[in-house]
Amino acid sequence: MSAIERITCVVGDITHERTDAIANAANSELAGGGGVDEAIHRAAGPGLMEELRRRYPEGCPTGEARVTSGHELSARFVVHCVGPRWRGGEAGEAELLASSYRSALELAEDLEARTIAFPAISTGIYGYPVREAARVALGTLASELEARPSIESVRMVLFDEEHLNVHVEVLEELAG
Ligand code: ADP
Repeated sequence: MSAIERITCVVGDITHERTDAIANAANSELAGGGGVDEAIHRAAGPGLMEELRRRYPEGCPTGEARVTSGHELSARFVVHCVGPRWRGGEAGEAELLASSYRSALELAEDLEARTIAFPAISTGIYGYPVREAARVALGTLASELEARPSIESVRMVLFDEEHLNVHVEVLEELAG
């Protein structure tokens, strides 16, 4: 199956995903926040924050990712990705966003995760315009999947229909 065919976009709540791993859109302190991060911490239980504090007291730089176990989630692992805050597009945002997806897939491969779900990193509180973020996210995922055959499928879990439609359109553009 081609790399693009291994990407599926759905509407949903990522905390319900049954993939081997789910990605989180975290902040660089890995200290908990709003949005998807809050939902993941709530569903995973307090062990998630304890593990983050213990293993990553220094947090995680923007554009990178760190792994914890999934605690009370169905997913075995959570890959905490730190995307960039949108500053108008000229501050290296696209490269940092691409780098956070790339780091997550690299870690997923090391963990032997065959399936992973992502939220639309940086498109909430961090203000990244959705279509531009979708181009970076899906373009990066497609090229990374090409190089990582052990990852069978990636699910982009969007929080509403509007985000889903944008992602489906961008995926169609990429598929040519
Ligand atoms: P960031 O700070 O990286 O922008 P947010 O959590 O604010 O992170 O938002 C990232 C995206 O995740 C937004 O598009 C938001 O609508 C979406 N989101 C929020 N909660 C969930 C959830 N439970 N499952 C999937 N996506 C979610």
